Amino acid sequence: MKTEQRSPQTFKKINASKQMKEIMELHFRELDEAAKTKSRKIAWCTSVGPAELLRAAGFLVFFPENHGAMLGSTRMATDLIPLANAIGYSPDICSYLTSDIGSYLKGSSPISKAYPGLAGPPRPDVLVYNTNQCRDVQDWFNFYGREFNVPVIGIQTHRSIGEITKSHIDSISSQIKALVPTLEEISGKKLDYDELKRVVGLSRQCTDLWKEVLRIGAHRPSPLTFFDGTIQMGPAVVLRGEQRAVDYYKLLLTELQQRVTDGVAAVDGEKFRLYWEGMPVWGKLRELSTQFAELNACVLASTYCSSWVFTALDPDDPFDSMARAYTELFIVRDEAYKEKYFEAELDRYKVDGMIFHDAKTCPNNSNSRYGLHERLAKKFNMPVLVINGDLNDLRCYSEEQTRTNIEAFIEQLAEKNGR
Ligand code: SF4
Repeated sequence: MKTEQRSPQTFKKINASKQMKEIMELHFRELDEAAKTKSRKIAWCTSVGPAELLRAAGFLVFFPENHGAMLGSTRMATDLIPLANAIGYSPDICSYLTSDIGSYLKGSSPISKAYPGLAGPPRPDVLVYNTNQCRDVQDWFNFYGREFNVPVIGIQTHRSIGEITKSHIDSISSQIKALVPTLEEISGKKLDYDELKRVVGLSRQCTDLWKEVLRIGAHRPSPLTFFDGTIQMGPAVVLRGEQRAVDYYKLLLTELQQRVTDGVAAVDGEKFRLYWEGMPVWGKLRELSTQFAELNACVLASTYCSSWVFTALDPDDPFDSMARAYTELFIVRDEAYKEKYFEAELDRYKVDGMIFHDAKTCPNNSNSRYGLHERLAKKFNMPVLVINGDLNDLRCYSEEQTRTNIEAFIEQLAEKNGR
């Protein structure tokens, strides 16, 4: 079988991205200004941590995982990781953590490269984690707590949860509430409950729009790829709870809906529809996007981009709804839940195959280690490919081998589907 080769195509331009770049830059400039002038307190927060509470308590919020992704996509990470290894952080633990600590030790950040005049990550006044995704985030934040001599507080979430019970919610909700006195002490003001409700409401609006953006991939042809999603998710991660994120996703959604109306495909001549499971390989997005497009394959949905969909958020019940939203995430759940989740996803997006990224330094977000991919392949009579790599450490990724494996995988799909 021969797959049709096309002229190289990477990301089909999304016009709204210009506005996204502007609001992301503003976010970093505000943080930098606050850190330099001490005009606002700054909280560092894990990517699925209680950002709404921090904003409502008056903090500007910085997300180190976003910085980790920048280190990966700019390919600065691989050179910085050994600096963290040299002070005892294993090469086997999260490469966001090791590259971020390496970046701090070297005083070299993609923020200063992208935005001239900015110093890099802003100095925190407090670090707030949620272990819902992994324990690495707590150890990561503890490093900075020691460096800056500031409080590290957080939420210990149950892991591998099947059904979410009232006792789970009560436990997490009370832990979120327990953060309040420390936050009030640092910010110097009482938490305004109405402000919390307002921020949770904005975060919910952001989430609903982001979910709609992702679900648009179900159209055939899909107007959006997973690779677009990894870029477009920026505001959903770092600006949720702010009006500008809501405004941005309205704009993006309108553009994508117009693509659907006009029959514009993200990948011209879409022949194969694929699902991506696991972390992105940040330093190889362009190469992977190009290869799939050349093979007329559209990777159109992922567990990763959906990680910032928090539909449980409810402004009328902020604490309990935050507890639920940050506990019902895919990464927090057990294998049985994940299998069922994929059944619904495969049905929604009508994919021909799945790609599992087994990221060496992130076992928490690699789901091919306990046979899930094989069970799905068998159940749905669907080809599945496992890519061995990493989110940030490109020493764990073989470009040559991955290219060959993807080519063979698409050939297998073509033969199976007679295309
Ligand atoms: S989930 Fe994975 S990538 Fe994210 S912080 Fe934890 S170990 Fe790192």
